[in-house]
Amino acid sequence: MNVLFDRIALIGIGLIGSSLAHDIRRLGLTKEIVVATRSADTLKRAEELGLGDRYTTSSAEAVKHADLIIVSVPVGASESVAKEIAGNLQPGAIVTDVGSTKASVIAQMQPHMPENVHFIPGHPLAGTEKSGPDAGFPGLFEGRWCIFTPVAGTDEKALKRLRGFWEALGSKVDEMDAEHHDKVLAIVSHLPHIIAYNIVGTADDLETVTESEVIKYSASGFRDFTRLAASDPTMWRDVCLHNRDAILEMLARFSEDLAYLQRAIRWGEGDKIFELFTRTRAIRRSIVQAGQDVDAPDFGRPHALDKK
Ligand code: NAP
Repeated sequence: MNVLFDRIALIGIGLIGSSLAHDIRRLGLTKEIVVATRSADTLKRAEELGLGDRYTTSSAEAVKHADLIIVSVPVGASESVAKEIAGNLQPGAIVTDVGSTKASVIAQMQPHMPENVHFIPGHPLAGTEKSGPDAGFPGLFEGRWCIFTPVAGTDEKALKRLRGFWEALGSKVDEMDAEHHDKVLAIVSHLPHIIAYNIVGTADDLETVTESEVIKYSASGFRDFTRLAASDPTMWRDVCLHNRDAILEMLARFSEDLAYLQRAIRWGEGDKIFELFTRTRAIRRSIVQAGQDVDAPDFGRPHALDKK
C-alpha cells in the first residue's frame, strides 16, 4: 500500500478511466475509488468489473470529499463536466484530466474551477484503439510519458503530488505549455490517426479493387493503418475539432511533403525517394532506442513458425 490520496474520483470510466482504476487498486494508491459515468449501462459494467468502491451516474456526487479528481471523458465534454463538479469540489482538491488536446480543455474547464482547488491539466501518452470499461488493463501507463500543461500560478506542492501519482503508475512526467503540447501531439498522434482514417476510407471507396481483396491482402501494409483507424470515433472527432489550428498546420506541411514525393515518383527521381526513405528508417531506430517500442519485426506479431 502506498496511499497518496484518501479518495479518488474517476469521472469517465472508459479505456483510460478503467486502466487508472486497475492500477490505483493494484498499487493501493487510495483508500476509496469513486466511479462516475453518465450512462447507467457503463456504470453497471464498471461495477461488474469491480473497478471502484462506490458508483454513481452523477459527477457532482462523485467528487464530494475527493482529494483527487481525474476527468477521463472525450475532450468536447470537458466544459459540461467542469460545470457539473465545480460546486462540490473540496478545498485543496486536485482536479486533473487526461484529454488528448490541452488548450481547449483549459479554456473549457479553468473558468469553472474554484480558487481553492488545484486544476492541473494532464495527458498520458498511452492508449489503444479500444474503448469502454472492458478495454482498460493494469500497466497501461508503465514506461509511458504523461505530459502536464500547468496554468500560470499552479501550486508547486500540488504539482509534485500529482507527479508522484503518475510516477507511481510507472509513467515519466514532462511539463510544457498547452499550445506547444497541442503542436507536438498534432504531429506525433493526431496526424497519424487522420492519415489512417483517410487511407482506410479511400480503400473503402475504391471501385477497381474489391473490398474482399483489400481485406485478403491487408498484411501488405494496409492492416497497420486499420488499427489506428479503428479508434473511437467520438474521441477522435473531438480531437479534430479541439486541436483544429495545429492539425490544419501539420496537414498543410504534410500535403506539401506529399506533393514533393508525388513529383519525385512521377519524374523517376530515385535518389530523392531513396534519401527520404533512408531518413525515415532512422527515426524508427531512434524510437526503439528510446524504449518507446520493441525491435520485434512486424510489430511483434506471432508468426506460424514461431511456435515450432
Ligand atoms: P472511452 O473509452 O470512450 O470512455 C469515455 C468515457 O467518457 C465513458 O465513461 C463515457 O461514458 C464518458 N463520456 C462519453 N461522452 C461523454 C459526455 N458527452 N459527457 C460525459 N461523459 C462522457 O474514452 P477513453 O479512450 O478512455 O478516452 C477518454 C479521454 O482520454 C479522452 O479525452 C481522450 O482524448 C483521452 N485519451 C485517450 C487515449 C486513448 O488511446 N484512447 C489516450 C490518451 C488520452 P458513458 O459510456 O457512460 O457514456
